[in-house]
Amino acid sequence: MVATTIPVDAFDLVIIGGTGDLSRRKILPGLFRRMCAGQMPDTARVIGASRSDMDKAGFQAFVRKALEEFAGETQCDDGAVDRFLELIDYETLDVFADDGWKRLKKKLRPDVIRSVYFSVGPSLFGEIARKLSAHGVTDDHSRIVVEKPFGHDLETAKELNAELRACFKEEQIYRIDHYLGKETVQNLMAVRFGNALFEPLWNAQHVDHVQITVAETVSVDGRGAYYDKSGAMRDMVQNHIMQLLCLTAMEPPSKYGADAVRDEKLKVIRALEPVAMDEVVRGQYSAGGDIADYLTHSENPKSKTESFIAMKVKIANWRWAGTPFYIRTGKRLRKRMSEIAIVFKDPPHSIFDGDFNRKGNVLVIRLQPDEGMTLRVTIKEPGPGGMRLTEVPLDMTFAEALGDQVAFMPDAYERLIMDVIRGDQTLFMRGDEVEAAWNWVDPIIDAWQSANDTPSEYDANGSGPEDSLMLLHREGRRWREIKS
Ligand code: NAP
Repeated sequence: MVATTIPVDAFDLVIIGGTGDLSRRKILPGLFRRMCAGQMPDTARVIGASRSDMDKAGFQAFVRKALEEFAGETQCDDGAVDRFLELIDYETLDVFADDGWKRLKKKLRPDVIRSVYFSVGPSLFGEIARKLSAHGVTDDHSRIVVEKPFGHDLETAKELNAELRACFKEEQIYRIDHYLGKETVQNLMAVRFGNALFEPLWNAQHVDHVQITVAETVSVDGRGAYYDKSGAMRDMVQNHIMQLLCLTAMEPPSKYGADAVRDEKLKVIRALEPVAMDEVVRGQYSAGGDIADYLTHSENPKSKTESFIAMKVKIANWRWAGTPFYIRTGKRLRKRMSEIAIVFKDPPHSIFDGDFNRKGNVLVIRLQPDEGMTLRVTIKEPGPGGMRLTEVPLDMTFAEALGDQVAFMPDAYERLIMDVIRGDQTLFMRGDEVEAAWNWVDPIIDAWQSANDTPSEYDANGSGPEDSLMLLHREGRRWREIKS
């Protein structure tokens, strides 16, 4: 059994949007898996709420089906589903109408912590906060969980922060970025700050550059209308990739705690230099095989939204001055692959003869697939015949190294929901962090819009537009291959 099974106290969790896709795929199965892992007490209660007119039994049937489809491999015994359904309740509620809130309030217990998950579209977030507060559904100890996207730009993020803060204290607000719940992302902190080996080398003196890649094979089919207003910059860079960059670049926090970690991440975002237009490459996928091009999936046949972005990011502080961070993300790429690669500088001098091409060490932290870490090192090629050198990976795939523990590892949502219940905000974004990220991203988007910039086309199943390769080539570097 994994180590994250410390039981939590009794709680009431309300899922506004309990009948929606996120609830069905992630939240409900996640809670079920935590119950099976022995973490949820049988005094916990999960209350779905949405406009759909159904009773408790109807919602329990909905939950049963969601578990059948999405719970995956669990540590559950035969009666577990029935036990979980006993914790489930439902209230029909339209966010804008008062009666549902009054009924919901009556269902909640006065003596347990209440958490409310806003699993609805972002246009409802402000109204939900107001209604919760106005009807006394929440109190000073309650927690709210807010899904992404958190704003569309700095202005809307500030408005949303103001709406939430008018009703709740910052300590009560849990802004989700599910990347922070990923095992390997947290491992990044464990590797950096739990070992003496890496941290002394983790700076511009020893690191040539850092590459962060989040490559997806999926297209935007099915979410074209949403994606077209967002694009890779808003959908991936402003939140997920920014978080990866912060955790890679931040100074050691004084302790592993919500404000200590988030203070350090914020300093990184504030130290980001403005990005020049020639240091960003935007792309849009063209047709390939039986997959249509981006424009077919978009509602706008002339859309200039990017489905790929690559950028050179510079951090203006003592640790990183002169060491660029290259980031890239895109849809319809060759393989699904997310990783952070720390590319160390070449050894300063070679004592070996011959034509061996000296290469620096590379530490790769793989988020998916095959979560794990690899360190590329140089060794002697085995056998006689002189001192010939070769490179080998020191590979630690978590599934191999940790065995059973990985099979039942909580997924990102599972972990984050339990953190809400425990009241731990370390893996959630603070309001100032989100605003700082938009403050850096907005001018880049504004510059494209003023220049009426058209994204470069790239082949489906490739590795992005040609000019993204040039971003590194012209500096004598190359992207790591996109492969599984
Ligand atoms: P969805 O499938 O459209 O579900 C929306 C839910 O909100 C439904 O339960 C709907 O039920 C309820 N709802 C809508 N209007 C309401 C109202 N006026 N009053 C009460 N309930 C209302 O959306 P989703 O995909 O679950 O996404 C929810 C949130 O999670 C969004 O912010 C999204 O960006 C975010 N998110 C989703 C995913 C995912 O995998 N789906 C991933 C990351 C983030 P009724 O129609 O019955 O009211």
